[in-house]
Amino acid sequence: MTNVSIALRERLEARVPFSTLELVHEATSVDGTVKALFHTAGGHPVEAVLMLFRDGRRSVCLSSQSGCPLTCTFCATGQMQFRRNLGEWEILDQALHFRRRGPISHVVFMGMGEPMLNFDAVVAAARRLPDLGVTNRRTTVSTVGWLPGLRRFVDEVEEPIRLALSLHAPTDALRSQIMPVNDRFPLDDVLAECLRYHELRRRRVFVEYVMLQGVNDSLDHARSLAELLDPTIFKVNMIPYNPTGMFEGSSRETMAAFKDFLHDAGFSPTLRLTRGRDIAAACGQLAATA
Ligand code: SAH
Repeated sequence: MTNVSIALRERLEARVPFSTLELVHEATSVDGTVKALFHTAGGHPVEAVLMLFRDGRRSVCLSSQSGCPLTCTFCATGQMQFRRNLGEWEILDQALHFRRRGPISHVVFMGMGEPMLNFDAVVAAARRLPDLGVTNRRTTVSTVGWLPGLRRFVDEVEEPIRLALSLHAPTDALRSQIMPVNDRFPLDDVLAECLRYHELRRRRVFVEYVMLQGVNDSLDHARSLAELLDPTIFKVNMIPYNPTGMFEGSSRETMAAFKDFLHDAGFSPTLRLTRGRDIAAACGQLAATA
């Protein structure tokens, strides 16, 4: 806009910042995925990712916190220092950064942080996304099953925003081993909330299941998973493990056998496409290392 004087423009720039976040670094993957590293005004790192899919979907993955206080053993974000919850606009500005360059069709709250630990800001941001062209139905909030926030999500959010649960193990014993948060909020309680969500919203709950070689990927695990979940309520999304140190990813054959087992048990499992691994932008790799 140039019909405003330079002096006024300078004053506006100083007083009304364009964004709550400053872009520090951006990387583009061979598959077209773009990862942006921002800093908050106080210098806390925040990452967001734009993924382009062949079917035309343009999906943005948003962070809800700088770092994460949880310590899931397979996730790089848990290994960096936890800074703080992001505000509503610090979440929206990540999406706006990508929206300025082109339309976005989907948003997933699957970046850094645990959205249900920052319930108010996450829900407020999600409710504004339709203004950016992303409907509630195309918005997904992913959680480890942090019950206080999850309960509020079920009780208070009437919009058809989708829920995803990072399950990763079919028993409490194994889940506690790889996700210490499970000691605090056991599986039965978390799944009961998911059932309530399904009853109230009539939408299926996505279940994320990262495939860790020799840890949670046997046919016995698949059997336990099939016994634990009702396929009419839960949609299983298997995630190939993105290397972060501790584990090895399951082989293609193991993943195929696991998937076939679930399929035969009445599920329609999907295997998540890995995007942006070469720029450390894939699931579990966000750790603000540029
Ligand atoms: N804290 C929320 C939001 C993050 S979503 C949650 O956990 O649901 C990020 C997803 O990627 C989660 O399902 C997480 O468990 C998964 N993930 C973490 N580390 C991963 C890795 N190394 N490889 C693949 N997926 C991973």
